[in-house]
Amino acid sequence: MRKSLALSLPLTVLLAGCQPSETPAPAPQQTVDIRTAPVLKPYKQTFHVFGTLVHVTLYADSPRQAQEAFGHIARELQAFHRRWHAWEPGGLLYRVNTAFLLGHRINVPADMAAFIQKSKDLYRLSDGYFDPSIGALINLWGFHSDTPAGPPPTEKQLQTWMQHRPTMDDVVVIDNTVSARNNLAELDFGANAKGLALDQVLDYLKQAGIDHAIVNIGGDMKALGLKPGGQPWRIGVADPHDPQHSLARIDLQAGEAIVTSGTYERFFDWNGHRYSHIINPHTARPAEGILSVTVIHRDAITADAAATALLAAGPEKWRDVAQKMGLSQVAVILEDGRLEMTEAMKKRWQPLEKQQP
Ligand code: ADP
Ligand code: MG
Repeated sequence: MRKSLALSLPLTVLLAGCQPSETPAPAPQQTVDIRTAPVLKPYKQTFHVFGTLVHVTLYADSPRQAQEAFGHIARELQAFHRRWHAWEPGGLLYRVNTAFLLGHRINVPADMAAFIQKSKDLYRLSDGYFDPSIGALINLWGFHSDTPAGPPPTEKQLQTWMQHRPTMDDVVVIDNTVSARNNLAELDFGANAKGLALDQVLDYLKQAGIDHAIVNIGGDMKALGLKPGGQPWRIGVADPHDPQHSLARIDLQAGEAIVTSGTYERFFDWNGHRYSHIINPHTARPAEGILSVTVIHRDAITADAAATALLAAGPEKWRDVAQKMGLSQVAVILEDGRLEMTEAMKKRWQPLEKQQP
């Protein structure tokens, strides 16, 4: 499999160049001297935002171009964090949630209304397994904390929640105004905001004249172009038992996002049981049965919401939900160690030898 992938790549690039329906290569603008022609070099920077690490690798023709881009990205990610944080007072989303609690309508910026509407659509497509209106339930489980530690909520608390539970259907978006029909609705976009941040960073990089970059936000990645030589980006998929190591490699093509959600990311142990931060909205309890889900999709927001939804859907339902969400490339690692994949993912998944300690 590895061999055929390696062979097919230059061919794809070659064919793309010959096809009139593809975007034609731009006509050369000017002649440059071979001694002074710009040379693209890779530059890397790591940022700490959203309580996670963001790695950016971009190819620029000068350290200055790279530094400018990194400075801009750092400011943009900080602003993004303030705007979308679900439970830190002061941000826009916090104000939206306060308005829901008080039963008010609230005006939001157009891009925020669009993202909430898109999240409603993803909620529907996922049969409700992706439901960002359950912020209050996530808080009940103790995951609105930097160090979740238990105890789990009581049976009575969970039953009361189930009787009154909100869903994304209760969140109403009309033009740029949002409101909630259930004042228990509390938006928490922990499951798909990283996808939105990826899109924003890549949009900025494009505008800044950068053609080759890969951005990794806490394990969610998206590629801008291929590497300058036309090769894909090599991505490692974390081993859920040992997340510092990769159990497979995937070659990511231009414009693709790859997202992995895992129960190992955030959890707490209580009385010998592990409770993960991904909650099944239909049972109000943490997801069981799957350790991690990897999704490849061109739309990072969809990939991010989907990885969470499939994990919540569990071993019996993930294929059904994947189909409804229009996903063709999915890999699932079950709690018993088995690996399940869609046909299209089998063609991309390159297993790696387990590293010796
Ligand atoms: P990670 O990349 O850390 O695995 P995810 O993208 O899977 O994260 O998102 C997990 C976060 O999403 C949780 O911490 C919580 O805030 C929120 N969440 C948990 N369960 C759901 C769900 N079923 N639908 C929507 N959001 C959820
Ligand atoms: Mg997600």
